[in-house]
Amino acid sequence: MPKNNVIDTKSADGYNRDSLSVGEALELILARVSAVAGTERLDLHAALGRVLATDVVSPIDVPAHDNSAMDGYAFRIDDLAAAEETRLRIAGSAYAGHAYAEAVGAGECVRIMTGAVLPAGADAVAMQEAVRVDGDRVVIPPGQQAEQNVRRQGEDLRAGQVALAAGKLLRPADIGLLASLGLGEVMARRRVRVAIFSTGDELCTLGSAAQPGEIYDSNRFTLWSMLARLGCEVLDMGIVRDHPAALETALLDAAATADVIITSGGVSVGEADFVRELMAKLGDVGFWKIAMKPGRPMAFGRIGNADLFGLPGNPVATMVAFYEFVRPALLQISGVAPLAPLPTFAARCGEALRKARGRTEFVRGLLHCTDGAWQVRPTGAQGSGILRSMAEANCFIVLESERGNVAAGDTVTVQPFEGLV
Ligand code: AMP
Ligand code: MG
Repeated sequence: MPKNNVIDTKSADGYNRDSLSVGEALELILARVSAVAGTERLDLHAALGRVLATDVVSPIDVPAHDNSAMDGYAFRIDDLAAAEETRLRIAGSAYAGHAYAEAVGAGECVRIMTGAVLPAGADAVAMQEAVRVDGDRVVIPPGQQAEQNVRRQGEDLRAGQVALAAGKLLRPADIGLLASLGLGEVMARRRVRVAIFSTGDELCTLGSAAQPGEIYDSNRFTLWSMLARLGCEVLDMGIVRDHPAALETALLDAAATADVIITSGGVSVGEADFVRELMAKLGDVGFWKIAMKPGRPMAFGRIGNADLFGLPGNPVATMVAFYEFVRPALLQISGVAPLAPLPTFAARCGEALRKARGRTEFVRGLLHCTDGAWQVRPTGAQGSGILRSMAEANCFIVLESERGNVAAGDTVTVQPFEGLV
């Protein structure tokens, strides 16, 4: 049996590669890609956007000591009268970084600032706005509770507990949390190395003037940009002509150096034949027809030790396929776990949309909040070659497979772009 049959159109696993749903295609991809093994120790300044390779165990209790959550007065709750005001003598003060050295005695209180160590004996803090100062006394009204405005040692996190789990994609809050634990370095997965190239005899490189019939290669730049945002190391291999020998050399070079190869163009019917033969010869690659628009044909598989994504050439189709399939795959290859789907939410569609049942459509949309409600409208002409429809959009309007035409005012699913890729 030819090796490419493993993931080509055969359906031993129940999937038909000639008609995959978006969800099935993603399932197949995620079942086949795995995290890079390499790790490296990183200074916190270099860790933003990287993926934790190991659990981070807290070396300390957080907070490290009992302390006050407010500016006010610390006292012993048992010293207060139940139903009337209590006058307590101000015995001293505690500032953040400067503790009150004694214990709080009977009938005493200590002036305390936010974050200051709670003096021994005290078990409550009254905020300063709630009390009245009278010379060296403080008058505290009734109704105070034990433990109020007190943050106890270890209440957020105990020494020895996992503070951040392996697989966490580090965001600013995580970097701050690591610093708060006194940790200046973390073990992260190494970056994923991704080789990209464009295919097509019509493509012109930036820097030379496009001749009649030529177009500028834009896919490498959108791909480079999306990959850079994901924190991948990108190897830009340029434009490869539609010749088997050139493509073979490029694929083998890419497979020798990269974890992932992403190509654009050359996978649509008519063009695919020599690409299919070649990819089948070099590795284990399937050609899929996915019930979606845009982005229907796609190649996926392995060449050597590299995962291969052969994306459709139309610039919008390249981006849609990247968002929906390559991005989650790259996160998994980066070691992110658990993998969360892109967030979606419901919005009111301002315009009617034509929609064929039986495929998922990704319409480029502009999401805006009007009178407190989220509304969306498509960004003009939606041809899969019209990159401007992406540039003007801030979301996809995701029209589910079973859905028919959309009337103005209908609720649709939107998938925002911002902050994702
Ligand atoms: P293909 O998938 O190779 O049949 O290409 C489909 C369409 O996308 C054609 O109109 C190509 O000219 C266009 N296209 C392919 N690759 C690129 C690219 N790198 N940049 C811009 N357009 C492209
Ligand atoms: Mg082409």
